[in-house]
Amino acid sequence: MLGHRFAHSLTRLGTETAFEVLAKARKLEAEGKEIVHLEIGEPDFDTPRNIIDAGIEALNGGFTHYTPAPGLPQTRAAIADYVRRYKNVPAAPEEVVVVPGGKPIMFFTIMALCNPGDEVIYPNPGFPIYESVINFVGANPVPIPLREENEFRLDVNELAALISPKTKLIILNSPANPTGGVLKESDVRTIAELVQGKEIFVLSDEIYERLVYNGQKPVSVATMPGMKDWTIILDGFSKTYAMTGWRIGYGVMNKELASWVTKLMVNSNSCTAAFTQMAAVEALNGAQDGPEKMLQEFVRRRDIIADGLNSIPGVKCAKPLGAFYVFPNLKSFGRSSQEIADYLLQEAGVACLSGTSFGAYGEGYIRLSYANSVANIEKAVERIKAALAKINRLSIR
Ligand code: PLP
Repeated sequence: MLGHRFAHSLTRLGTETAFEVLAKARKLEAEGKEIVHLEIGEPDFDTPRNIIDAGIEALNGGFTHYTPAPGLPQTRAAIADYVRRYKNVPAAPEEVVVVPGGKPIMFFTIMALCNPGDEVIYPNPGFPIYESVINFVGANPVPIPLREENEFRLDVNELAALISPKTKLIILNSPANPTGGVLKESDVRTIAELVQGKEIFVLSDEIYERLVYNGQKPVSVATMPGMKDWTIILDGFSKTYAMTGWRIGYGVMNKELASWVTKLMVNSNSCTAAFTQMAAVEALNGAQDGPEKMLQEFVRRRDIIADGLNSIPGVKCAKPLGAFYVFPNLKSFGRSSQEIADYLLQEAGVACLSGTSFGAYGEGYIRLSYANSVANIEKAVERIKAALAKINRLSIR
């Protein structure tokens, strides 16, 4: 065993259990069991054709070399233009840093802003990498609970009570993973008012911004008075354009922070793949029928899965307002989320995630991704129904 010689900070890293559940599910498949995969957070659609063609054209055209660390000028310009047009945030190309996926912006931002002992307020249940990186850099994680009674939106009064002189950063994620909650404009306004004058940054994870089902465009906190320089927008291409494997995302932040995040890029990745950056320009500037079709299909699936789950005795599933996850309440079964998720994988052949994979406030819930075909969603619901009907008669401990 060599671990005693490794850095202590490693023990503070968390993980995304989706990958662990996927490995368990694959093992069962190898043993001959048929599994419906509702654990993975990625669109099951192909990247739209025009984007693939732009990537191929870029490769043929010689985009096979290093690019400037913060991104190609045309990619930064296209992103700044999109951010101005779509998010209504007056971004300049120099305020954009292109990175391999949305995730590096979490890592780089938290690393660039937080000293040991600084407090970071983050959503719980929420994307597990927030808490992981906060702990990794030695900052103090301060969870803000997202409650079903509040449609999984953070409670601004609760947020006000958590802000302290040590608060360095607040992380927002709307639409949210894993709950599908979407902040209201009035919430965003109040959050901006709460941090006003306190020199607190806000990391606004807007990766699911285009996946909203109530017809309302989410409002970025960066549009609020005085907030532009204090907000880091995280966004990307993985979810909107079904480009998870291309690895491209971006951050929009004040120029000073952008130069530090660029330095972190120089020290880690050098740059994002050149052809991927060219495909991203096409994604933003080309036809938008791909994302629009995906959105319509997600609405249909959301209704099928939420209605299906609600028809199961003991299950209560709020209809998510955005993203592509449902977060049903299974507290009535009196088991832990982890036990239920394990049971559903073994008994029903449905791979899903325990709510506690997203933090302690996820206890009592499981997360199912509906980025899967209607036939598979229907099959999963039937199997869950049959398995849960048996659960009280079984000992699953
Ligand atoms: N932010 C949230 C809330 C996510 O759910 C994810 C991916 O699951 C990401 C960011 C990261 O996306 P990417 O694959 O572009 O790194």
